[in-house]
Amino acid sequence: MTEITAETLPARLSSPRLSARVSAAESASALARLIASGRAVTRADLVRETGLARSTVAAGLDALESVGLLAEDGYLTSAGRGRPGERLRIDPTFGVIAALEVDRTGTRVALYDFGQTAITTFVLPESVMSDPDALVEDVAREIRAWLREHDGAPEVRMAVAGISAPVDVRRGTIVGPPVLAGWEQYPFERRLSEAMGCPVIVRNDADLRALGEARSLPPSESPLLYVRLSVGVGAGFTDAASELFTGVDGAAGEISHMKAVLREGVACHCGGIDHVASYASVAAMLERWNASSPARASEDVEQFEAALKRRDLDALAIASEAARVLGSALVDVLLMLNPARIVIGGSVLEASDTVLATIRAVVYESGLPLATRNLTVTTSALGEQAGLRGGLVLALEESLASVNIARYIGL
Ligand SMILES: [Zn+2]
Repeated sequence: MTEITAETLPARLSSPRLSARVSAAESASALARLIASGRAVTRADLVRETGLARSTVAAGLDALESVGLLAEDGYLTSAGRGRPGERLRIDPTFGVIAALEVDRTGTRVALYDFGQTAITTFVLPESVMSDPDALVEDVAREIRAWLREHDGAPEVRMAVAGISAPVDVRRGTIVGPPVLAGWEQYPFERRLSEAMGCPVIVRNDADLRALGEARSLPPSESPLLYVRLSVGVGAGFTDAASELFTGVDGAAGEISHMKAVLREGVACHCGGIDHVASYASVAAMLERWNASSPARASEDVEQFEAALKRRDLDALAIASEAARVLGSALVDVLLMLNPARIVIGGSVLEASDTVLATIRAVVYESGLPLATRNLTVTTSALGEQAGLRGGLVLALEESLASVNIARYIGL
C-alpha cells in the first residue's frame, strides 16, 4: 500500500471548468447531455447554458449530427421578435438501452430508445435466479429475440443492471452477504457484457432506484435516500447534485447490517446478530408471521401482504415493529446524510399504511429537528419502475460521456 502524506500534497480546491480548455468530445458530450435532459434544446440556449463560444457549440452539434445522435424536432415558437429557434433532440433511433432489475421475485427488463421512451418491458421468471449463468443467458436471449422480431430495431448500446445484493462497483461483482444464493463473487458485469455484446454497468438495486427517483423529481428533493423494503432491506443515496453516492467500493447504504434497536439475539442472513434486516426485512416479517401461529407454517409474502390488507392484527403488529426498527436506523442515517427526501419502496408499503406511518412517527419524533424540518418521508413516485429509470439515467450518461462520444466520432 502506498503511504499518502497529506502535508506534502497541495490542498485540492474546487474550480469552475474553463470553456476554452474543453476538448471537442467534452463539449459535444456536454451538449448531448443538455439536449437529452431537455434543459437546453436550441443553439441559443446551449450557448447560454454552457458558456461555450457559438462556433464551439456549432462544431459540437455538427459532430453529434455526423454520428447520428442528433435529430431536429421542429421549431420553438418565439415569444419575442427574433427567428424561432430550431429545436434539437437526441435521435431516439441512435440505439437501445437495456435496464434490468434482478431479485428473487424475477428479473424486470425494460428496453428504452435514446429518447428515454420505454419500447418494451418484460419479466423473466424467478426459476433461473439460482443459476447466475442461466440468468445471464436468458436475459441476453430474450433481448436478442425481441430485437430480431422487431426488424430495424437498433443495437443495444449499453445495459445497466440493478441487483438486490451488495455490488463491488470497481469490479462489477456480487459480494457477500448474498441475498441471492449462488451469486457470491459472481462477475455479473463481465458475463452480461459478454452475453449481450455491449458495455454493462452493475449496481445495487436500491442505488439505481435512488438515482431514478432523484432524477425524476425536482432538484430540491435531493439529497435523496431510497430504502427498498423487500426480501432484504437495501438503501441508495444521491447527493445534493442528485449524483449517486456508492462509496469507494459500493457498500454505502448497506442499512441491512446496521445494528437494530431491538436486542433479541435474532440472526441476520450475513451471519451477524440483531441487524436491521433481522427485524425489518420482509423475510424477517414473514418468519415472524409464520411463527406466530401453528396454523401457518409456510405462508409466502403474498399471503402475508394479503393479511396486512385485511388488517389482521398479528400481521399489523409484526409490520409496525419492523417499521419501528427501520425508523430508528433511519434516525441515525439522517444525522449522517441530512437528506431532503426519504423514499420507502416495496410492495409491503402498498399492502398497508402502517409501515410508512410508523416510520414517519419514529423519524419525526426522534430525529434532530434540524435534520427533519425540511424532510419528506414518502413512498416512491415511480413505483416498481424506479430502478429501471435509474438504469436508464446511468446508461444514457455513460453513453453520452466524452469518452464514448469520442469513440462514436472516431477521435
Ligand atoms: Zn447482517
